[in-house]
Amino acid sequence: MERGICIFKIMDIKKLLTVDGGEQEDLFGLANKVRKEEVGENIYFRGIIEFANFCEKDCVYCGIRKSNENVERFWMGEEEIIECLRFIHNAGYGSVVLQSGELQNDKFKNFLLDVVGYIQKIYPDMGVTVSCGEFEYDYYKKLREAGAHRYLLRIETSSRSLFKKLHPDGDFETRYKCLLGLKELGYQVGTGIMTGLPGQTDEDLVEDLKFFLENDFDMYGLGPYVVHEDTPLVTENVKLEWEKNRSEIFNKTLNFIALMRIILKDVNIAAGTALDVFDPLGRMKALKAGANVVMPSVTPRMYRDKYLLYQNKPCIDEDAEKCKDCMYNKVSAAGFKPMLGVRGDSLHFKS
Ligand code: SAH
Ligand code: SF4
Repeated sequence: MERGICIFKIMDIKKLLTVDGGEQEDLFGLANKVRKEEVGENIYFRGIIEFANFCEKDCVYCGIRKSNENVERFWMGEEEIIECLRFIHNAGYGSVVLQSGELQNDKFKNFLLDVVGYIQKIYPDMGVTVSCGEFEYDYYKKLREAGAHRYLLRIETSSRSLFKKLHPDGDFETRYKCLLGLKELGYQVGTGIMTGLPGQTDEDLVEDLKFFLENDFDMYGLGPYVVHEDTPLVTENVKLEWEKNRSEIFNKTLNFIALMRIILKDVNIAAGTALDVFDPLGRMKALKAGANVVMPSVTPRMYRDKYLLYQNKPCIDEDAEKCKDCMYNKVSAAGFKPMLGVRGDSLHFKS
């Protein structure tokens, strides 16, 4: 099947973002048909370790931004990370995602290189995704050489004007350049957006889909924006609007995922954890809409309530073992086959 938006008119796509009821079922039906043909019905697992919440950036939507003084900062030690990796290996997740705030100092960069090097040495078959923000090309190169082969860096929005409003100390072109550099270095590159951002229009979301298609990434991780009261983005008005539009944002996110599957075909799409803020089965609904990856948390319980990118984050009172059983059961109950013991690389990258 040909990749692209050409099978739809742009107007259709905008309309499809808001469908519900029978029309939404038809959209998901098509997305599932494409998923089955392109990537099969297996669901891949990545254990995510949120290993540090220090951050030098001030993204206005994020709960762990540097100016939020209400956050108790942590940085997990090597031994703690090794314990998490052992869990991931024994659980058969096949891949790890190392995520943190963005830190540019040498101590952090060397630490991350050491962790990636350790995984390469002890678990050479484990998929390694890094999601620690923007770095210079040479550092991405060092990480790649140390054994990282996937990198997740959401563009957040392809609208340059909205990006500017959300990132007082960020720059769209720099982030985009990072994505291009990662591609050049041979990473499987993942990006994504937040849906339902204040100020985001449906036209912006159509542009996001075009941005994905034109840039030909291998993996996508996306989810809905969720308010965090300790951030400058959340005014009384934004909070009220967000509460009022909750179900609309949720539906739009699912429709966006279905459209991604139909348009982008053989890529990996992760069901974002933030979906569960809207519906306890949010991530499962995302799988039914076309996603094929879940990222159960392996972060030790004592750190979970300190890594609150947004409010009401699910699973903060659970530990890795409970998340494993819960996710495995949910995925099976949703009618999918959990694929354990394999890396689950993006078929799009391979092809
Ligand atoms: N520091 C890295 C990785 C950690 S943040 C980076 O920024 O790339 C991981 C993702 O969390 C971000 O890309 C963003 O899309 C998401 N996020 C942050 N704040 C959020 C919020 N309030 N609601 C939903 N997602 C949020
Ligand atoms: Fe830091 Fe990432 Fe949050 Fe931005 S989104 S403040 S870079 S952790």
